[in-house]
Amino acid sequence: MEPKAISNYHEATLEKQGYHFVAPHKHSAVKTCLWLRRSIRAEGNCYKGKFYGISAHRCVQMTPCIFCNQRCIHCWRPLEAFNMGEEAVAWDTPLEIVEGCMKEQRRLISGFKGSSKTSKAAFAEAEEPKHAAISLIGEPTLYPHLQELIQEFHSHGMTTFVVTNGTNPAVLREIHPSQLYISLNAPDEAIYKRVAHADYWAQIQESLEVMKRMKERTVIRITAMAGTNMVDPGGYAKLLETANPDFVEVKAYMHIGYSRKRLSRAVMPSHTEVKEFAGEITEHLTSSGYNYKIVDESEISRVVLISNLSSEVEALPKL
Ligand code: SF4
Repeated sequence: MEPKAISNYHEATLEKQGYHFVAPHKHSAVKTCLWLRRSIRAEGNCYKGKFYGISAHRCVQMTPCIFCNQRCIHCWRPLEAFNMGEEAVAWDTPLEIVEGCMKEQRRLISGFKGSSKTSKAAFAEAEEPKHAAISLIGEPTLYPHLQELIQEFHSHGMTTFVVTNGTNPAVLREIHPSQLYISLNAPDEAIYKRVAHADYWAQIQESLEVMKRMKERTVIRITAMAGTNMVDPGGYAKLLETANPDFVEVKAYMHIGYSRKRLSRAVMPSHTEVKEFAGEITEHLTSSGYNYKIVDESEISRVVLISNLSSEVEALPKL
C-alpha cells in the first residue's frame, strides 16, 4: 500500500483532537493520554502499569500509520479520517518518525513543568520516555517499515507494545516488539463482519496461528460490547486456543469519542459484566485443558486480565 496525503479536513480534525503529526508526510502521530497527565502528577497510573509495569508518564503513545483497513463500530477515532486523500506521498523513515515522536512528546509534556501539581521526579522521568505504545490510531502493520521502527525505539532503550487488528499476518511474522497485542472483537466471522465492517476473518485466523509461534510476550484483547459481541464465550476460547497467548485482556467498550455517534451508552458493559464474561471464557479454556486464570483487574478501566499460567515468558522491566 502506498500512502496518500491526509486531506486538509481530516488533518484539522485530528489536530483539534490532540493528535500531533511527527514527520513530514503526516501519516504518523503522537498524542498524550489522560493517564500520562495523572501519572506526571503522581495521581495514578493506567492499567498497563498495574498489569505490566508501564509508567504512563514514560510512555509515548504513537502510530506510524493513521490509516486503517477496518471500520469498527466501537472505534473512538473518527473513521472518516481513515480514508486516504488523493495525492500519493512517500512513507517517512523509522528514524524520522522516532525522532519526531521524541521531540513532540517532550514539547507536549513541557507544559507540565510550571504546574505546582506536577511531580518533579515524574517530570524528569517523563523527559526520557522508556516505552512506545504503537497503538494510537489506525493500523500499524500498514506501515511497511514496522520492524525497523520497533528496532529504532529499542535502540533508544525503550520497550514497545504493538497493537494490531490482526489483518496482516505476513507482517506479524517479521516483527519483534516487546509485546504484541491482537485485538479480537468477535467469536465468529458473522459477528466480526458486523463489528469491523471488513472482510479479513481468514487473515485474522492466520495471525492467531502466527501469534502461537511468537517468542515475544503476546496478548489478545477483547473489547466487550453488551448485546453485540459478548456472546459465545466458547467461540472466543477456541480462538484463544489457536493463539495460546500469554495474556488475555477482556475490556469494556468505552462510550467515548466518535463511537458515541454509532453506539448507545447501553453497549458499554459494567465491570461486573466484563468480569463475568472473562470468567466464562476462562472456564471454557480450563475445561479444554488450558491453564488460564483471572489474575488481575482494573475497575476504573473495566478490564480483566487472564493469564496463561503455563507461559514461561519473561516479565518486562519495570518502568
Ligand atoms: S482496527 Fe482499531 S483503529 Fe481500526 S477501525 Fe478498528 S478500532 Fe479503529
